[in-house]
Amino acid sequence: MNFHSMSPDQLREIADDLTKQYERLQAAGLKLDLTRGKPAPEQLDLSNDMLSLPGDDYRDSTGVDCRNYGGLTGLADLRTIFGELLGVAPANLLSLGNSSLEIMHDLTVFGLLHGTAGSSTTWAAQGPIKFLCPSPGYDRHFAITEAYGIEMIPVPMLPDGPDTEVCAELLAADPSIKGMWAVPTYSNPTGVTFSEETTRRLLEMPAADDFRIYWDNAYAVHTLVDAAPTPLPVLEMAARAGHPDRVYVLGSTSKITFAGAGVSFLGASQANLDWFSKHLSVTTIGPDKLNQLRHVKFFGDADGVRAHMARHRDILVPKFRAVLDILEARLAESKVASWTDPEGGYFISLDVIDGAAARTIELAKNAGIALTAYGSTFPYKRDPHDRNIRLAPTFPQIDELKVAMDGVATCVLLASTEVLLE
Ligand code: PLP
Repeated sequence: MNFHSMSPDQLREIADDLTKQYERLQAAGLKLDLTRGKPAPEQLDLSNDMLSLPGDDYRDSTGVDCRNYGGLTGLADLRTIFGELLGVAPANLLSLGNSSLEIMHDLTVFGLLHGTAGSSTTWAAQGPIKFLCPSPGYDRHFAITEAYGIEMIPVPMLPDGPDTEVCAELLAADPSIKGMWAVPTYSNPTGVTFSEETTRRLLEMPAADDFRIYWDNAYAVHTLVDAAPTPLPVLEMAARAGHPDRVYVLGSTSKITFAGAGVSFLGASQANLDWFSKHLSVTTIGPDKLNQLRHVKFFGDADGVRAHMARHRDILVPKFRAVLDILEARLAESKVASWTDPEGGYFISLDVIDGAAARTIELAKNAGIALTAYGSTFPYKRDPHDRNIRLAPTFPQIDELKVAMDGVATCVLLASTEVLLE
C-alpha cells in the first residue's frame, strides 16, 4: 500500500513490523558489498586467454618491436579497433596506459599548469575556475576537480543527458567555467545516454575558448540489450560547430578485459593531441605496447570486442534483472522509491524519498550490507535532497546479490517510515 496515503497509526504499525524484519536481518550476520562497479571474477575469466598473448610474436602488424621503448601514440592496430567503437578517427586517437582516469587527471593538471592548447593563460592563473558537473555523476570525476580546488557546479541530469539550458545559461554568464564532466553512454550512475540533440547543443553553445568537455565514454560498448548505441562522431560534430578543441574523448578496456590491466584511450583534435603529447612526453617514453598488442591479438577487430561484450552481457543481465525484480516486488507498492532500468553500464540509480538516503545507507551498514557512501554521486558528497543511492550489481554472486537487495529494500522501507513519521 502507498505509504503516503497511510495514517500515522497505520504507518507506525508497518514500522513495527519492519523493525522486526530489520532485527532479523541484523541477526543474520551478513557481510555483503554493493559499493563499487567492479567486474565479477567470471567476467575477468572471459579474457584469460589474453594472459598467454602475445607469445613469441611480439611485433605489431607494422613491424614495431613492442618490447622496446617508444610509440607515444600507442599501437595503430589498437587505435583502429577502438576508433570505430568510440566514433573517433584512428589518427585522432591515442592509446595509452591502463587507466583513463589517469588521463583525465593529467588533462586537468596540464590545463592548470600549462594552459589548454592554444591558450596564452593557464587555468591556474585565471583565478578560481569551475567545472559543470551533471549530477548524479561519477564520484572519481568529482574527486579530481575537488583535489585541485576547482569549484564544481551541479547540473541536473535529464533522461537525454545534462540539462543544456542550464549549461548554456551558466556558460554564457561565467567565463571561469573551464570544464564539464560527461559520461555520454549509459552514464554512471543514471544509465542515461545523451541524445544527438543534447550533444549538438553542448558542442555549439558559447563558452570560453579554453572550455573543455571530458567526454568519458567509459561504457560505450557495455550494453545490456542487443546492441550498444552507435557512438556519435563528437570530434567532427565539434569541428562543425566551430569548436574543434572543445572535446576530450576518453575510454578504456577496464570493464572489457581486466579492470587493473586494460588499455585507455584519448581522442581529440590534432591541436589537443599535440598539446597533450608534448606534456605527456615529459612523464613517459611510451605506453605498455605489449599489453596493447595482447589486446589487438585477442580481439582482432571491433566485432571481436562486440562479441566479447555479448559474453559480459550474458553474465550481467541476470544480475540486473534480479535487482530490478526485488525492487519492484518490495518497493513498488509503497511509492517510496524510484529506480532506473538501464540498457547498459554498471549501475542502477535508486532514488528514495527526500531525506531517507543517508538513513537507508546507515541501516544497511549496520546490517552488514555496504552501499556506496552517502552523497558520493554528487559534487562535495552533498546530495541536495538526501535521496540518491548508487547500486552496483556486477561484482557479487547472484545469490548474495539477492540477499543483499532484499535487505536493502527492508532498509529503504524502514527509513521511509521514519521520515514520514517525523
Ligand atoms: N569513467 C567512468 C564513468 C567510470 O565509471 C569508471 C570506473 O568506474 C572509470 C572512468 C574508470 O576508468 P579507468 O579504469 O579507465 O581509469
